[in-house]
Amino acid sequence: MIPAFTPVPDEALVGGKWRQADGPKTLVLNPATATVLQEVSQCSAADVDEAVARGAEAAADPAWRDLLPHQRARYLHAIADAVEAGGDRLAELQSFNTGKALRETKALVASAIGTFRYFAAVLETSDEAKTTSRGDYVTWVKHEPIGVVGAIAPWNSPVASDAQKIAPALAAGNAVVLKPAEWTPLVSLALARLIMDSGLPAGLLSVLPGRGSVVGDAIVRHPGIGKVSFTGGTETGRGIAHIAAEKLMPVSLELGGKSPTMVLDDADIEQAVAGVMYGIFSSSGQSCIAGSRLFVAESLYDEFLEKLVARTKLLTVGNGFDDATRVGPLVHPKHRDSVAAYVDLAREEGGTVLCGGSTPDDPALADGSYYLPTIIDGLDNSARVCQEEIFGPVLVAMPFRDEEDLVAKANDSVFGLASGIWTRDYRRALRLADRIQAGTVWINTYKAFSISTPFGGVKESGLDTEKGREGIAAYSRTKGIYLGMSDTPNPWAPSAP
Ligand code: NAD
Repeated sequence: MIPAFTPVPDEALVGGKWRQADGPKTLVLNPATATVLQEVSQCSAADVDEAVARGAEAAADPAWRDLLPHQRARYLHAIADAVEAGGDRLAELQSFNTGKALRETKALVASAIGTFRYFAAVLETSDEAKTTSRGDYVTWVKHEPIGVVGAIAPWNSPVASDAQKIAPALAAGNAVVLKPAEWTPLVSLALARLIMDSGLPAGLLSVLPGRGSVVGDAIVRHPGIGKVSFTGGTETGRGIAHIAAEKLMPVSLELGGKSPTMVLDDADIEQAVAGVMYGIFSSSGQSCIAGSRLFVAESLYDEFLEKLVARTKLLTVGNGFDDATRVGPLVHPKHRDSVAAYVDLAREEGGTVLCGGSTPDDPALADGSYYLPTIIDGLDNSARVCQEEIFGPVLVAMPFRDEEDLVAKANDSVFGLASGIWTRDYRRALRLADRIQAGTVWINTYKAFSISTPFGGVKESGLDTEKGREGIAAYSRTKGIYLGMSDTPNPWAPSAP
């Protein structure tokens, strides 16, 4: 049953105060019906100024600045408890606003809770290491907060991507100014209420809905922002990196992908079929790590594709609140149109659509931004649909001859985010894993995730990593401390006459 939608108050969290922004209103849609859920007012550059100023004060306040790690960890545990208590509402809001199946949004909330708990644990257990001495002094490394950090998030998994930035940034002792994506501000606003109600001191978190070119740009350019953590498209990330270069500001960029899934001739076929389907069609393909290019061993190609197409046709497309749904609507009608345009392009490029390739016939789905899971073959890896990120339920399949051919094709991409290998031979798998240019390699699994394993892209998929024990250091400045142990004056200086 579809629950009733309860709006989120139309208020931004600006430097510790909730207030309605005075910019234009964004119409926030339910993609399952293409109807307006509610309006959310957009913030301005002046709101960014205020959020940064209050954030800097809160981060410098001894009540926060001087907390010992185990004391700051308590705030993160309290946030995790609050998110757990309010988790059902967050999952529902995310299903309403992104269209994702409730089972997926519940998993994303659970992952956000785990993220706060993990970084609390890392914070309490990160020992500062003494470095090897090269003289009569003791040396060690100290990690200090940056001050105020900017977090800019995409629309596909707001609760998980917000937590992935807020948790390590707070753990490192910073204040955070977060900008959610225009299409999906509701989850971040609701999450911020839970976080503030858990007792986090005012000013340490601001959530500013608004346009990327206004609020996002103001965050990146602000002299008081000491680091930006950005997740989104490669072109936006490149623009942010240019501005960061001028400011000499560190950035972490989690960007797009066109990840290869590779099925070798000795793969467990049933496992590979299910894994390939999950890799591309879960979240309706709106996932940076979606396995959107499929390479199958020539000898297995026809048999594998036949099975894959038959099983894909069985996927239930529908409202995210329906238990049977595997593939929900795309986030916005405009995005659905962009996905459909890519499939048209594939046809123009000479591709054959083996299944999907259109919106569903079901009249009950006619108003929503649905698109059928689609498999295309007959194209070369140089085709635009093999090179550009579609970010929808569209898989392009290609055969490969041998390992050399596979590596050449898989790496022939500007992206390098993720990859999957299906084989029973772990020697072949590990040999391939070494040669594939990607931040993550999954072997006989796909889209498995753990907060303790660093994640990031290579090539145009990004800079730097998130998650893992180093996740907190990524939001810190490093300082070397030297403590002289000698009692004698430095011999370089002339002795007193
Ligand atoms: P996007 O780049 O359009 O927007 C991302 C965020 O940046 C939004 O909040 C947007 O408002 C903001 N933004 C836009 N222009 C800006 C500017 N000039 N200055 C500052 N901020 C600006 O991306 P999207 O369409 O929201 O998300 C989809 C993209 O995100 C895909 O390419 C996907 O692969 C990528 N993504 C990557 C990861 C990862 O971890 N690598 C995870 C999820 C999504």
